Amino acid sequence: MPDNKAQFYRGRFAPSPTGPVHFGTLIAAVGSYLQAKKNNGEWLIRIEDVDITRKVKDADSDILNTLESFGFEWDGDIMYQSRQTEYYENTLQQLMAQSLVFPCTCSRKQLAETGEQLYPGICRQRRLPETKEHALRLLAKNITVEFTDAIMGKQKQNIKQQCGDFIIKRRDHLFAYQLAVVVDDARQQITEIVRGSDLLDCTARQIYLQQQLHYTSPDYCHLPLAIDKTGNKISKSEGAARVDIQHKEKLLLTALVFLGQHPPSQLSGSHCSDIWQWAISHWNINTVPKKPYLSIPEI
Ligand code: GLU
Ligand code: ZN
Repeated sequence: MPDNKAQFYRGRFAPSPTGPVHFGTLIAAVGSYLQAKKNNGEWLIRIEDVDITRKVKDADSDILNTLESFGFEWDGDIMYQSRQTEYYENTLQQLMAQSLVFPCTCSRKQLAETGEQLYPGICRQRRLPETKEHALRLLAKNITVEFTDAIMGKQKQNIKQQCGDFIIKRRDHLFAYQLAVVVDDARQQITEIVRGSDLLDCTARQIYLQQQLHYTSPDYCHLPLAIDKTGNKISKSEGAARVDIQHKEKLLLTALVFLGQHPPSQLSGSHCSDIWQWAISHWNINTVPKKPYLSIPEI
């Protein structure tokens, strides 16, 4: 296996424009940025607006402005998922040609009534006409996906037994995140994905899709998720507080401490540019806590 990181590293930060940057978003941005910079790599931004129903007006420019005020510097043009539909459609055709896709008309209610945890394959053999309102599911083969996450360690999931046939195009004709993210990461030649551990559980599905499409899988690195004092995950769609850029230096230092780094006390009171300089040269992925959830430190 060639050592990708030594030759070419490309990371990305892929926020959904569902609200302003909160502390959790900042963690994913800081972690992916430092990992890219430490590897002399590129860092791309992708606005994950494939689900236009969840999009909040102007949240994309709001996120970008916030990142800019923290001093993040990204490479290349920003990719918008809402403009990639033709690539998703081509990929869908490719999967269909491999007989890996079937229409599913099951409603949420019907599925709940089966009492099954996973999709029980009801429509798999039904050969439904294409004209009806339906979602498209990817056939789950009896394949076990294994990968080693750079932080969370060895992971293993059987696609058939633990994921089931999953949706790649929704009933409302929108492509599902699982398909979009795999297509985009491949098109952008991302070598390592650094993101929050809320996505650890769907990584095997994404690797399975990559395998069916004969894509090279990137490396994965899942960061701890920030939880508030009451133990709840902080999330944009739950209306988490936006980061206050008046205190950006302190927030950046807090993010570093959260990620298991040890910024020296002399850095408090410094500008973001000095904090970044220290953070890039001292970034150590091995000291990031191997915990899926972590509370925000007081510094
Ligand atoms: N768009 C997702 C989010 O904002 C991140 C997806 C990813 O990094 O793969 O949570
Ligand atoms: Zn069905």
